[in-house]
Amino acid sequence: MNPIYHALDFGITCIDTQYMRNDFVAAYLIEDQEHVAFVDTGCYLSVPTLLATLDEKNIQREQVGYIILTHIHLDHAGGAGELIRHLPNAKVYVHEYGVNHLIDPSKLRAGVIGVYGELFFKQFLGDLIPIAKEKIVIAKDKDEITLGNRILKFINTPGHARHHVCIWDEKSQGIFSGDTLGVSYREFDTEQGVLIFPPTTPVQFDPDVWKNTIQQLMTLQPKYAYLTHFNRIEFTKKSADMLIHNINNFVEIAIKMQHQPNRHKAIKTALLDYLLEIASKHGVTTEEIKQIKVFKGDLEICAQGLGVWLDKESCAKIPNK
Ligand SMILES: [Zn+2]
Repeated sequence: MNPIYHALDFGITCIDTQYMRNDFVAAYLIEDQEHVAFVDTGCYLSVPTLLATLDEKNIQREQVGYIILTHIHLDHAGGAGELIRHLPNAKVYVHEYGVNHLIDPSKLRAGVIGVYGELFFKQFLGDLIPIAKEKIVIAKDKDEITLGNRILKFINTPGHARHHVCIWDEKSQGIFSGDTLGVSYREFDTEQGVLIFPPTTPVQFDPDVWKNTIQQLMTLQPKYAYLTHFNRIEFTKKSADMLIHNINNFVEIAIKMQHQPNRHKAIKTALLDYLLEIASKHGVTTEEIKQIKVFKGDLEICAQGLGVWLDKESCAKIPNK
């Protein structure tokens, strides 16, 4: 097992969990004075990569004290139950709404199998291992934990999901943002900088709450966002504005398509057109995008989440921007 990882500064490593493909889902390792934390884990199948990264960096498994989960979507947290079996001193930190799903993952499993089928579950997610209650700690808003010589602070960040937390790392002036500060693939970096769009995943996407969360996070004046999808980016006001702009436009697309006979397909097609347009304006060529094929899976999930959101809104209108 050859792990793929990107060594960043401030003792932070971005591990490529190799979920679905490379450069898609990250887990982070934070090291400080021999103390170690994971932020997110990828899925069950990612765990050998995480452990191989520890081995390659000569980190003893006993040194890992924390497995912090930004939220319990399975590309972020599906590996936590398997990982903690190998880390005798680790506790799992998660938003209180996520706790029961970690103790008993049967609902999560049934949800995924219901939507994507058993084959997908086995092939891409592998398994879900329950976590003993005493190994779980609730990550409360504004709570701080100490890792060696640094403080990590939890911040409640609803919008992408109600049970989402971000982690503020004062030492690097960075936010471990899970999905809250968007998705941004390195393949789309151009002279204009990064391209960011919102993963409007089912079933708790809430645009107004999310935009408010982003504004709150910006009051920290972060230098960096450690994105799960994918890797660290500099996170500026321009980045936040782009993300909010794209949340607005995703919602607008969903509302425009809400009465189409095949609503899901219509939303997905319109999202693809929109992303191709903004990528092209950003200086990414259409050919590059087609070759990378990164949008395909994202758009399926984004369209599903927008559909769920539309169903919750009694009469969705295009909101003020
Ligand atoms: Zn998510």
